[in-house]
Amino acid sequence: MYDVLVVGSANADLTVRVERRPGAGETVLGTDLVESAGGKGANQAAAAARIGGRTALLARVGGDAYGELLLHAQREAGTDVTPVIVDESARTGTAMIIVDPDGDNSIVVSPGANAALTPQDVAAAKHTIAASAVVSLQLEIPMESVRAAAAAAEQAGTRVVLNPSPAPQTALAPELLAVADPLVVNEHEARQLSGRADGTPAEWAAALRDQGARSVVVTLGGDGALVLDASGATEVPGVRVKAVDTTGAGDAFTGALATRLARGDTLPEAARFAVRVGAAAVTKPGAQPSYPTRAELEALVP
Ligand code: ADP
Repeated sequence: MYDVLVVGSANADLTVRVERRPGAGETVLGTDLVESAGGKGANQAAAAARIGGRTALLARVGGDAYGELLLHAQREAGTDVTPVIVDESARTGTAMIIVDPDGDNSIVVSPGANAALTPQDVAAAKHTIAASAVVSLQLEIPMESVRAAAAAAEQAGTRVVLNPSPAPQTALAPELLAVADPLVVNEHEARQLSGRADGTPAEWAAALRDQGARSVVVTLGGDGALVLDASGATEVPGVRVKAVDTTGAGDAFTGALATRLARGDTLPEAARFAVRVGAAAVTKPGAQPSYPTRAELEALVP
């Protein structure tokens, strides 16, 4: 029924640009507030749907204006939002983002309704999980719910794409790592989870596979990605573009990767496509607003 079911977070991104990010006790003036759709789960769903994947999202939003904004953005992208739970007793998750002229940011996330996405919610969606080729997971919802989704997918024979982000302070549960096919990590997450502060992307990937991941993709910003699967290690070169805003680039990559895997690509083929989608996403501001349709991708990154 679906190429990709994303089980994860949905946040309203509240962004202000400043000349200098404030220190403790300091107040600075910024630009007008920009409100846009974000959250790792919702971002990955939007990226998958825009690129043409049959996509559904299991997430929780509050019964407020930000929840409406997030649902509207998903519908516009083409995501089936039937599994989204509107929680009248909670506020929609928000990310308060402060960006300086170098593009560096400080972010405070208030999880709100995301924190109430329970293993019971996941259990109620088990038929949707079984009817999807790929389930895509991140770590902005309670860990027990991520584990429940991974277990349900494993039981149903649904492939799991796991993006362990934000990087956890402790090691990932072995049974979670064991279903990741692939584990998708950026350089920071690769260093942290592999336990190797230095080393190369190939070494991080090998360490993560030794820890139990079935396959691994390390995204390398403008330098593309490194793939490690049963066929060995493959370097996927980056695509040169004028980067305007890298917010949500990793989520664009992961949503596109999941879609292509669902459609039958090998992991290196899917990563080659996802690197183009990630590159297209950095050419425009914002997370979801920057994600390309198939036609936009061909025009931006032929
Ligand atoms: P994250 O956003 O999770 O930190 P990365 O920075 O590795 O992840 O970016 C994910 C993907 O987005 C990369 O594999 C690449 O396809 C694309 N990307 C990110 N930054 C750039 C850039 N400066 N130029 C071109 N592509 C980029």
